[in-house]
Amino acid sequence: MVDVRSQYLKIKDEVDTGIQEVIDSCAFINGPKVKEFQKSLEDYLNVKHVIPVANGTDALQIALMALGLTSGDEVIVPAFTYVATAEVIALLGLKPVMVDVDPDTFNLTGEIVKNAITEKTKAIVPVHLYGQCADMENIMSVAKMHNIPVIEDNAQAIGAVYSFSDGRKVKSGVIGDIGCTSFYPSKNLGAYGDGGAMFCNDDNLAEKIKMIANHGQKKRYYHEIVGCNSRLDAIQAAILNVKLKYLDLYNSSRRQVADSYDKAFEAIDALQTPVRLSSSTHVFHQYTLRVKNGKRNELKDYLNELGIPSMIYYPVPLYKQNAFKNYNDSSFRLPVTELLSDEVISLPIHSEMKDDHLNHIIGGVKQFFLG
Ligand SMILES: *Cc1c(COP(=O)(O)O)cnc(C)c1O
Repeated sequence: MVDVRSQYLKIKDEVDTGIQEVIDSCAFINGPKVKEFQKSLEDYLNVKHVIPVANGTDALQIALMALGLTSGDEVIVPAFTYVATAEVIALLGLKPVMVDVDPDTFNLTGEIVKNAITEKTKAIVPVHLYGQCADMENIMSVAKMHNIPVIEDNAQAIGAVYSFSDGRKVKSGVIGDIGCTSFYPSKNLGAYGDGGAMFCNDDNLAEKIKMIANHGQKKRYYHEIVGCNSRLDAIQAAILNVKLKYLDLYNSSRRQVADSYDKAFEAIDALQTPVRLSSSTHVFHQYTLRVKNGKRNELKDYLNELGIPSMIYYPVPLYKQNAFKNYNDSSFRLPVTELLSDEVISLPIHSEMKDDHLNHIIGGVKQFFLG
């Protein structure tokens, strides 16, 4: 699905030097590499505060903790997302209010959020699934109207640019009150291990986030609140420092692969290619098709036999998972989420796609539908 190795070989000297510098300095925890990456990411995103953390799931958890939510508070979250987005809500004793998504963008809209707001809603967590921003202008305006904070799950969309109707352009993750991202190796900006970060423009909120991520202390050994321990590893920061410089390039390479797929699949009626919005660039963390003739699983098996990898993100709606069964009764249904779980399939996409691989994948898909 991804080719981390070819990408590494192109930047090997820079990466190896960065890693060696950490080891030579023995500054393994925090230290200059982490600081440097934090500053570079602040510049790249044009945001006041980046707080590096240990992974994307921690980022989401710490964001909810920083908002000071209490047991029973409701948090609106799409049911069609990676488990982490909803898991941290449940873990903190809050109530995940799972909502449906738009069938074309796979994301939340302002309308969907509006209809789910109650007196108890204390946060909204839109996910920018597969690399394209959710309907942030409308989500933000609904949220502001009800004075509810927004946490963006930007794990799949780092580098995407969102355009407001007044022409203002903002990077994904810095639109809401807090943005969260992951540097899991296969993400668009991937480390060589775990990593994550949080973004925010509010000084007080940033202070609180830093304190929570550091055992609830501002001054060492004086713990004001119960926090956790979540740090970005210095070796990972050194790698990310190198890779951040190439992120826009990586994202545009992904876009080129998506363009080729789009063009190749245009004439196949049973396929819906990714819908691209004018309000957001798409950074194609995944290239995800909808197979509308009921043959998604057959396509997957067929590709598998040709040695072509594919993935189903995500096969089971979150409310149907055992872990979340107590939050809704068993008749609870979100029609679009169920439809998408049955129809989506993601094809390999990454920054190092070779023409022969791409043609092999395209050929396999075409063969399945057109013979
Ligand atoms: C990857 C991902 C996460 C979690 O990131 P980790 O670094 O693996 O903890 C959260 N949300 C979404 C949508 C993701 O894709």
